Amino acid sequence: GVDTDTILKTEGITKRFGGLTAIDDVDFDVEAGELRCLIGPNGAGKSTLLNLITGALSPSEGEVYFRGHDITEMDPHERIRRGLSIKFQVPSVYEDLTVRENVRLPIQRLASGAERDERMADALAAAGLSAKADVAASALSHGEQQQLEIGMAASLDPDLLLLDEPVAGLSVDERAEIAERITQLNEERSIAFVVIEHDTDFVAEIADHVTVLHQGETFREGSIEEIETDPEVQRIYLGG
Ligand code: ADP
Ligand code: MG
Repeated sequence: GVDTDTILKTEGITKRFGGLTAIDDVDFDVEAGELRCLIGPNGAGKSTLLNLITGALSPSEGEVYFRGHDITEMDPHERIRRGLSIKFQVPSVYEDLTVRENVRLPIQRLASGAERDERMADALAAAGLSAKADVAASALSHGEQQQLEIGMAASLDPDLLLLDEPVAGLSVDERAEIAERITQLNEERSIAFVVIEHDTDFVAEIADHVTVLHQGETFREGSIEEIETDPEVQRIYLGG
């Protein structure tokens, strides 16, 4: 059964690529409004699990439930329409457009007139880029482009937002800014998050609950304190 506080649930989800089992019988649950980090060594299957949740990949076995509905066979766009949003690992802002024009793209399909303007202002605030609305996206730093994408994903008013390595390659200050954006969206708009991240300092800053994937399986789940001090987790990160 699927209880009402569980926004996302995978049951026995499995993904094989030829002879390789990238995700092996994973049960992954996220509560409404939760901020979860998904960690694990390179190749653990983190991006594959996210792609199975968004529908970019179809599972070999198992089911995905979102807000109590079986979405295993659902088209990715329909998942987005139902409140499951994603910001991909690779930046995908339009560099030739201004920040405001970028923000308009996802919103204009959903709203017009005053409502559209309000949602755009909201998205710019969510991105922390209100002061840079008329700047070309190409003039933004890498960190600001990530902020822009998070604001655009949040403008779809999702219940769950999935982020694949949102701070990879960013400076300490840029990481802090992204952490602030995520925490604010989680607290003020009750958006649940699943964030894939390597950096344990960043994870400690944003998440209370962590899932460790290893070789396609759920290796550990617990608080950041439990995970950080677990010698078995340290061992797998050292390649043991
Ligand atoms: P992570 O994001 O944790 O680094 P991935 O989910 O990207 O790991 O990859 C998990 C495993 O699945 C790796 O061994 C990777 O090489 C393999 N893999 C991922 N995508 C594909 C694909 N499209 N075809 C074949 N193998 C893949
Ligand atoms: Mg990955």
